[in-house]
Amino acid sequence: MADMMRAVRMVTDFDIEKGIPAQVGLVTVPKPEIVQDDDVLIRVAYSSICGSDPHILRGIFPDARAPRPMGHEMSGWVEALGSKATEKGLKIGDRVTGDFVMPCHACDYCQSGMPQFCVDLKKRGSAQADYVVWSESQVYRIPDNLSMQQAALTEPFNIAFHAVEVSEMRPGTDVAVCGAGGIGLMLIAVAKSCGASSVTVLEPVEAKRELAKKMGADFAIDPITEDVSSRAREITNGLGYACVFEASGNGASAANALKIAAKQAHVVYMAMYQSKFELPVNLFHYFYQNEIRLQGMFLAQGSMKRAIGLLSRLDLSAVISKVYPLEDCVQAYQDQVSGNYAKLMFEVNKA
Ligand SMILES: [Zn+2]
Ligand SMILES: [Zn+2]
Repeated sequence: MADMMRAVRMVTDFDIEKGIPAQVGLVTVPKPEIVQDDDVLIRVAYSSICGSDPHILRGIFPDARAPRPMGHEMSGWVEALGSKATEKGLKIGDRVTGDFVMPCHACDYCQSGMPQFCVDLKKRGSAQADYVVWSESQVYRIPDNLSMQQAALTEPFNIAFHAVEVSEMRPGTDVAVCGAGGIGLMLIAVAKSCGASSVTVLEPVEAKRELAKKMGADFAIDPITEDVSSRAREITNGLGYACVFEASGNGASAANALKIAAKQAHVVYMAMYQSKFELPVNLFHYFYQNEIRLQGMFLAQGSMKRAIGLLSRLDLSAVISKVYPLEDCVQAYQDQVSGNYAKLMFEVNKA
């Protein structure tokens, strides 16, 4: 009989019509094996819950049906290597993290520096489990000065890191971050370490505003009780923010992001929005008069190695709200849906 392992799976299907989300559960499944020559078998140490995971349970990807594996953010140890997994010099026992996305590296998009649009984009998640098998091209060694727990944040950290890259944020400018979830909080740390002169967070939950300040935010606005536009003008001497990151996925926040943008501001919409949501934009004001640039973002490719380099210099322990054993996966997902926490994480295996 095959070796078995524990894994978090979607165990029931969602019902979009009735608004019933899918349920998760801990199940026993066969331990994955190396199939491709360049595969790496990883014993998972920590695996975090992504802000997008509850969207999957609510049916944002109609094809994602039970018993779908969950989780794509992790750190772990190399347990076995395929015969051709030799490019990165990995050894058994090495501490690694990775990117669940696997582009083909051969199609027109891949060859044009846009692997996120790869016509054969494979996603190998399943990281909320004792073991995962990923291709060597998806795997990155964890630097000695980065803890296993914090290394599990690499994939979402890379999203925050890449958002600052695509924003072309200049040092010495005022930056706003809408939404202080896991990615928003990490974005604050990245923007500060890349030279933002000030970072303002817009976040309705008080505990998250406090966390944002711990991560380096200079100002916090409660978009529910405060006049967002006038507070932003006050903070930026009437100019508005040169860079605005919309990391909440909330419609009202998506509108606020434009209201607080400076002339020629770069506004990055980087969250996963409801698929039917549309935002009316006054073109005369924002584009003709203010020359605003809007930037979308889908995944973050090509920046993992640099993101790990910066991550290893930052202390992001405040981002991790709670750590659960895999056995508490139902509770962990309930807590994630509550919106009261930044990043929730499973400790899957100890060293
Ligand atoms: Zn994620
Ligand atoms: Zn491709």
